[in-house]
Amino acid sequence: MIEDKNQTRTSLSELGEFGLINHLTQNFKIQNNSTIKGVGDDAAVLDLKEKQVLITTDLLIEGVHFDLSYMPLKHLGYKAVMVNLSDVYAMNGNATQITVSIAVSNRFPLEALEELYEGIHLACKTYNIDLIGGDTTSSTKGLLISVTAIGEIEKEDIVYRNTAKQNDLLVVTGDLGASYLGLQVLEREKQVFEVNPNSQPDLTDYNYLIERQLKPEARKDIVKLLKDLDVKPTSMIDISDGLSSEILHICTQSKVGCNLYEEKLPLDPQVIATCEEFELNSTTIALSGGEDYELLFTISQEDFPKIKANPHLTVIGHITHESEGVNLVTRANQQIQLTAQGWNSLTKKD
Ligand code: ADP
Ligand code: MG
Repeated sequence: MIEDKNQTRTSLSELGEFGLINHLTQNFKIQNNSTIKGVGDDAAVLDLKEKQVLITTDLLIEGVHFDLSYMPLKHLGYKAVMVNLSDVYAMNGNATQITVSIAVSNRFPLEALEELYEGIHLACKTYNIDLIGGDTTSSTKGLLISVTAIGEIEKEDIVYRNTAKQNDLLVVTGDLGASYLGLQVLEREKQVFEVNPNSQPDLTDYNYLIERQLKPEARKDIVKLLKDLDVKPTSMIDISDGLSSEILHICTQSKVGCNLYEEKLPLDPQVIATCEEFELNSTTIALSGGEDYELLFTISQEDFPKIKANPHLTVIGHITHESEGVNLVTRANQQIQLTAQGWNSLTKKD
């Protein structure tokens, strides 16, 4: 479906392992003072001075986490970095370095890896990240990519998941559900393409959804915004699995309950229109879609005036006593217990 413009195929064996690593990493420039030694020795060296260190890692496997028939390799590289940076920002930290490990089968020529690293390079440049190492090996089948992100933070700035307090406000950044719908659109086009390889899909009605799926952005801007507004969240998490599941993580770990208001969920107009077209419930999609990479956090009520006019931030609920449970309050003012999958209409409270 996505045209392969680059027809040259250079076998990886022509370069050898060290030639390959050198070729792929030669254009990366060190941008952070804390990076003392990057790629090229047995280990990288960092100097984080008095700062605390954040470390997070993700493993992405072809056929499980991505499908190369509609995921261009450049986007895959970019996204693999974003999902990790998002975890650092969710701690309120500053992401500074990554390592990238790949396993590739001989089905992939050098040009494919160049594309992958173009995406990684763009992510590093845009987010001010140093690539400081990794590992390269072969796989019998498919592509596997693992990214580890490292961040720095002052001890007193760290925001955990387990520190939400009763009466705090629950806030989400951006909008929800678009990435999941983008995936549904791409899956549908893939099926059309398999039946008719000459079809030229017109995806303009879905451009925002597809961009959210293929080129998500981690919310580094929000960490800065909160600092500028002088707001330290009482708890925070990034939305990778879906809003419901993340709210449950905050509430379970903080030993609190929550009321989430259906009418407050921020939805892009394309999400609403596409849900109608696909006959999906937009609330279900917002709650369980996943891969939004937005931030979900709680703030103390006294900080509300500082955030209330901000277009990036929506208050979607508030924290209650643990005994009240974790609920969705519907537009019809019904309370429904939230589950990790979204909400379970069989467990209505009244
Ligand atoms: P070693 O044999 O000591 O593990 P390698 O030959 O695997 O070293 O790697 C040499 C250098 O290249 C190291 O700095 C390593 O971190 C880096 N490196 C290896 N693979 C990658 C990769 N896929 N992306 C970025 N850096 C890599
Ligand atoms: Mg190695």
